[in-house]
Amino acid sequence: MISIAIDGPSGAGKSTLAKRLAKQLGYIYVDTGAMYRAIGLYALQHGIDVKNETAVQATLADICIGLKHEDDGQHVYLNKKDVSDAIREEKVGMAASAVSAHPTVRAYLLEAQRGMAMAADVLMDGRDIGTVVLPDATVKIFLTASSKARAQRRYKELCEKGQTIDFDTVLADIEQRDYNDTHRAAAPLKQAEDAILVDTSDLNFEESFEKLLDLIKTHAK
Ligand code: C5P
Repeated sequence: MISIAIDGPSGAGKSTLAKRLAKQLGYIYVDTGAMYRAIGLYALQHGIDVKNETAVQATLADICIGLKHEDDGQHVYLNKKDVSDAIREEKVGMAASAVSAHPTVRAYLLEAQRGMAMAADVLMDGRDIGTVVLPDATVKIFLTASSKARAQRRYKELCEKGQTIDFDTVLADIEQRDYNDTHRAAAPLKQAEDAILVDTSDLNFEESFEKLLDLIKTHAK
């Protein structure tokens, strides 16, 4: 089986690029962030304190996450309900970041993620794919960009979706999430030793896509 691991901080363009790369290469796209977001959303919907590991852990038995590949792309299901749009809200991203710090949550998702990589050729994106989930991945990429460039992209995306938010809030959220992701004890965000670093601060989408496609094709032989 071929597995491509793409890790990096929030807003580096991982999921948009990964989605398109997976389609082009014929691999299954696994958006691991969406899985953490689904758990974060469930906690918010049920008034659970996302920072309380015992409380979040207790919900795991009631949560069933499904990633389904449909004609218009990947859909995320939480207990059979399509939550693909709901999980993209900023507050859900923050909740995902908080629940992802809990080792029990990570262990629960790790098993599911490894199972997916054993069943098909996958392109999986997240924070710890190259370091923890798939340490033997065929190709590992660490995708990053400056926090300002990432905030600008996310701000534009949110405005296009009609969400009202100011730029400084988006930048502060990105920096807070970077801090959470890199400072947590369990599987913190870091570049795997054998990952290839790609900085997209000065690249547009097409340039980033071509660069990654080229890298994967060269290294996945
Ligand atoms: O990538 P995305 O922004 O959708 O991920 C949401 C949150 O889930 C991240 O801020 C991060 O804290 C967490 N996450 C993680 N490990 C992964 C994927 C996401 O901790 N493999």
